[in-house]
Amino acid sequence: MLATVLHGPRDVRYEHVDEPKILKPTDAIIKLSATCICGSDLWPYRGLQPMNGPARMGHEYCGVVVEVGSEVKTVKPGQFVVGSFCLSDNTCPHCSYGFQSSCVQREFMSGAQAPYARIPLADGTLVPTATMPSDDLIPSLLAVSDVLGTGWYAADAARVQPGSTVVVVGDGAVGLMGVLAARQMGAGRIIAMSRHKQRQELALEYGATDIVTERGDAGVAQIRALTKDVGADSVLECVGTQESMQQAIRSARPGSMIGYVGVPHGVELDGQSLFFSQIGMLGGPAPVRRFLPQLMDLVRSRAINPGKVFDLDLPLADVAEGYRAMDERRAIKTLLRV
Ligand SMILES: [Zn+2]
Repeated sequence: MLATVLHGPRDVRYEHVDEPKILKPTDAIIKLSATCICGSDLWPYRGLQPMNGPARMGHEYCGVVVEVGSEVKTVKPGQFVVGSFCLSDNTCPHCSYGFQSSCVQREFMSGAQAPYARIPLADGTLVPTATMPSDDLIPSLLAVSDVLGTGWYAADAARVQPGSTVVVVGDGAVGLMGVLAARQMGAGRIIAMSRHKQRQELALEYGATDIVTERGDAGVAQIRALTKDVGADSVLECVGTQESMQQAIRSARPGSMIGYVGVPHGVELDGQSLFFSQIGMLGGPAPVRRFLPQLMDLVRSRAINPGKVFDLDLPLADVAEGYRAMDERRAIKTLLRV
């Protein structure tokens, strides 16, 4: 089959690879309904993350099961499924506490920017739907697999409550999903930090009440002005740079929580200033599996439309253009039709 392989910085190829096979009795093979490019795929694409040779790309997926291993019990061929980018058994102690992204058997999904993919730990990872979803819901169901699940985790980790004042740092796809999540959790005020007109509009549509375009000291001053010099109850950090993390910490009031889901690159924290800031922090790779059933129901009942975050829709064969568009910030997030 033809699939996506990253050979080096800015060298994405759509080329022949082996078809996936069942390797373990706990595996499943799915035919993808659609897949997409993640902001985190841009780190190796930009040469900012070391690679050991060519890499099969893609970790966001939904589709129809075509084959299962002999030990798989909860999904069967013909079912539509969504899974997390973190593969988990959903039975170990960490999974039981709702942190499937730290599963003792954890693996990270790869190779999903392809027509077919192998899903290890299928029973613990995949959630089937009762009936086949209609085609127009595919982008939103795909979004649940990572980008929405991650934005949701950021809001959950930041303990967004009904009436909370929330700051969202980062206007990429995850930040926009964080806005959607905070809205669903009943936040009273959602301040989105964004400098891009199109992203501001989507943030407002997803429930942001205020937009702050400044960054650094000016951005912090704006947040303080908007919160009567108190700071926010919950802050979602959805970028992962030193600047964005400082923005998050300086926007949070004492006693608040920061949910941080941007993978840190070069972030260093000062112990003493953290001590005196009196804020809590919970982050890491999102345990999307915990939220899958609820988020899939919200999509299927059309209560939310996370699929709108895809503003570029390409055939999989044009995957290299999809990467370029996101790298050059011409697209927020690229959907790839299989
Ligand atoms: Zn586990």
